[in-house]
Amino acid sequence: MSKRDPIAATSPADETHGGPCLCAWHERRLFTGLLATGGLAALAGQAAAQDGLQGDVGRTSRFTKLVPAEQVEAAATQQYSSMLAQARDQRALKSIDHPQVQRLRYIAERIIPHTRPWNPRAAQWRWEVNLLDSPQVNAFCMPGGKIAFYFGILHKLQLSDDEVAAIMGHEAAHALREHARERMGKTAATRIGAGLVSSLLGLGAVGDTMLNMGGQLLTLRFSREDETEADIVGMDLAARAGYDPAAGLTLWQKMMAASKRAPPEFMSTHPAGDTRIRDIGEKLPKVQPLFAQAGKPPRRFAPPAAASRGS
Ligand SMILES: [Zn+2]
Repeated sequence: MSKRDPIAATSPADETHGGPCLCAWHERRLFTGLLATGGLAALAGQAAAQDGLQGDVGRTSRFTKLVPAEQVEAAATQQYSSMLAQARDQRALKSIDHPQVQRLRYIAERIIPHTRPWNPRAAQWRWEVNLLDSPQVNAFCMPGGKIAFYFGILHKLQLSDDEVAAIMGHEAAHALREHARERMGKTAATRIGAGLVSSLLGLGAVGDTMLNMGGQLLTLRFSREDETEADIVGMDLAARAGYDPAAGLTLWQKMMAASKRAPPEFMSTHPAGDTRIRDIGEKLPKVQPLFAQAGKPPRRFAPPAAASRGS
């Protein structure tokens, strides 16, 4: 990653904060202002709106704690960089000058500042966003914020910025909610017995599990519950970043339409159906106020030209 890379350069110090300023002075001024206009109900409504979907997501699974986060993130970082190296060797990595890479990184930079409330560790993550020159319809975010999109998902589905944000939010949510770590913890627990695991933390047995699971970080299939959770958290992130959360509906409709021709790779790990679309629709009213309040992206990008493979 070069110094020009805006995502890799993201650090807690240079992140911009989205949303309204909530310092005490502004809060008090807002409060007295609302009092004067009899807006207490509006204030209560605004407080509820700020919560978004935080209350709709349960606590992190106890299995998550069985494997140290540092180890999971280190394994992911290693796999991500070897995947990038392979892609580079095969000339299958889009350069940072590519308009679609710039587009993905722009959208990521708007989303990332809103990730911290979902996982405090995210403040230290070195987020990366890359575009693989592959016709596959796929995307993922590995633990520690390592994001990859496949060119096919942008090209074949002709994704709008809002739809890109829906996918990116969803994938980032898997990392933020540590679904991979949870899966590893469950595997460790079944292998060596839940009672023993806590005393073995950091020792051989868990280390073996890391080795065995490590290679699967790229192709993890999550549970239905994890998928629902990622949809919810993803909508919250996209809305706060100023992207229309209703794009979740059109995105999954596009996925379903595409699967009538040939099931996209993304669908093998993300079953799309009427239930998923209905669930997203039901959660929309909770994130629409966040979207309404959010600053909107000054820049908009188009998908790759439909007829081209893009270069
Ligand atoms: Zn998912």
